[in-house]
Amino acid sequence: MTTQQIRVIACKCPQCGQELKGIHHDRILFCWSCNIGIDLYVNPIKIYPVQYAKSNQNRESSQIFLPIWRFEIAMSFTSEDSDKLSKLQQIPLLHVYIRGFRMHGLILFGDINRMLTAVQPKMEIENKTYPVLGCRKSAEMAAECINITALSIIDKFVDITGVTLTFKIISTSLLAVPFHLENTGLVDGLMGYEYCHVAFDDLPAIKSALHSNTA
Ligand SMILES: [Zn+2]
Repeated sequence: MTTQQIRVIACKCPQCGQELKGIHHDRILFCWSCNIGIDLYVNPIKIYPVQYAKSNQNRESSQIFLPIWRFEIAMSFTSEDSDKLSKLQQIPLLHVYIRGFRMHGLILFGDINRMLTAVQPKMEIENKTYPVLGCRKSAEMAAECINITALSIIDKFVDITGVTLTFKIISTSLLAVPFHLENTGLVDGLMGYEYCHVAFDDLPAIKSALHSNTA
């Protein structure tokens, strides 16, 4: 006879006991009181403090916060070509941004990972907290996108043929990034770029969860 161990996951915050917030398919659940995101799918569970970025856009429209992972990285490279090496050393890439929320049609609507990573926006962290939902990617899943995102930026500065690049993660942050809900689309509060509503697959579910507050 075999005994199976079954791990029961209570969707309560391990710190305050309140119910965790998330929508269908979310990998990270949030406690809006403790201001944390929790990955319940790993053992032991992982807890990430949420940092709320402040919008630098002067807009009257209401805003929602969406989860984006920010990885501080150290880049190292080897190449026979000293010219390429000196060019690579000048690339100001420090943070790689990978969205936790779902988007589609990146070629058509724009890839926010690339844009944030290319711009490296200055960021002020809010003291206030807001509801945040819709994080479909764990930190590990997001980290798998670091190479392709970083390379797409580096490739613009220097031809990386024959160069061996490695990225080491120094730190991982879970950001809640403000997006302004305009009639024409969603404008991110860090760069002021506008994205079409329909690119955000989970937007209707997030809005209705925020509205009912029973996510
Ligand atoms: Zn809590």
